[in-house]
Amino acid sequence: MSKIAFIGLGNMGAGMAANLAKSGQDVTAFDLATAALARAVDAGCKAGGSAAETVKDADIVITMLPAGAHVRSVWTGEVIPNARPGALLIDCSTIDVDSARAVAKAATDAGLRAADAPVSGGIMAADAGTLAFMVGCEEGDFAEVDAALRPMARVVIHAGAAGAGQAAKICNNMVLGVSMLGICEAFALAEKLGLEPERFFEIASKSSGQCWSLTTYCPWPGPVPTAPSNRNYEGGFLTALMLKDLKLAQEAAARSGATTPMGAQAEALYAMFDGLGFGQKDFSAVLQLMRGKLSEL
Ligand code: NAD
Repeated sequence: MSKIAFIGLGNMGAGMAANLAKSGQDVTAFDLATAALARAVDAGCKAGGSAAETVKDADIVITMLPAGAHVRSVWTGEVIPNARPGALLIDCSTIDVDSARAVAKAATDAGLRAADAPVSGGIMAADAGTLAFMVGCEEGDFAEVDAALRPMARVVIHAGAAGAGQAAKICNNMVLGVSMLGICEAFALAEKLGLEPERFFEIASKSSGQCWSLTTYCPWPGPVPTAPSNRNYEGGFLTALMLKDLKLAQEAAARSGATTPMGAQAEALYAMFDGLGFGQKDFSAVLQLMRGKLSEL
């Protein structure tokens, strides 16, 4: 049984820490929000008094924080100075590649081991223990990272060295944003042309337009009963989080010199949709922007 410190018990971290405790690990948890910490204790975790105190005896430290600034501050200010030598630090937040590489370097310089392991899958997957983890770490550390993440995972994939997990996450989500917008535009055009949306779904899902955004997450209500479009786009993957990931992709593209005009368009469209007040709707709700039917949301 490993001693695990878990920091950041929000929408995602709550279910993740609970699944680790349920799997029989010795989990000490910490969050600045006392209600979040109390919920983790109810789920079988011990309560840490601070991030620094929580990591002191841990073999493995897992963080699930909002953004790069939080990870830089918690890792360099509290985790790295207090973790025991050789401890394995795993950040599961979605953050910029530069921050992921910077904190990994700070950790290894201090005699610790580090991995970035952002997730695909939302709050339901975090609660169910079915997240997909994309891992950036040294080859020799991957087996231990894999074992630590298993109780929370459907799949754990090694993407490469430090930062590669974050790179995989933002590239994947850039594809997702662009493909969802393409599918929404196609439904809006099909409707204007008098083509039954259900017929369009049937045809495109068996033709070259087939993709995850269409056949697993169809933005038009009906054809895929589990998709958020059937519950007025509540829950699912929030527009605000899609926008966050598209911004990270554009920042990374600008810094690395990559050409990503479709990603830039996707960021602009999701920024507009978020600005119109739909940040808390599932990202497939952008269909109603394309249809000119925002009043139906
Ligand atoms: P959240 O805001 O619900 O939770 C973050 C938690 O971190 C909060 O409880 C907050 O109190 C805590 N926190 C902040 N600073 C802290 C500090 N210094 N010390 C201790 N605790 C601190 O966010 P979330 O939805 O759980 O997302 C976490 C990460 O996962 C983000 O990077 C997000 O982009 C990513 N992500 C989220 C989803 C999703 O569907 N929510 C899906 C995939 C990835």
